[in-house]
Amino acid sequence: MFYLKVPLANGIQIQAEVRGDNVFTHCNCCGNEMPVDLADVFADGEGDLESTELLCPECAALLLERMREP
Ligand SMILES: [Zn+2]
Repeated sequence: MFYLKVPLANGIQIQAEVRGDNVFTHCNCCGNEMPVDLADVFADGEGDLESTELLCPECAALLLERMREP
């Protein structure tokens, strides 16, 4: 099990378990919130938690479509 430790004020902190269904990010293109499977994102051993940027399925499809255009 993995969990976050987030300090609040006056020595109070919260802990939140990191599971496969409670990790989210914002799409780097449209900003929409989307769920993320961290194990899947980093399965290739590339990237890190601070700088990795992801696209939502809609923006990824749009990008692929534009890349195919001559
Ligand atoms: Zn998007």
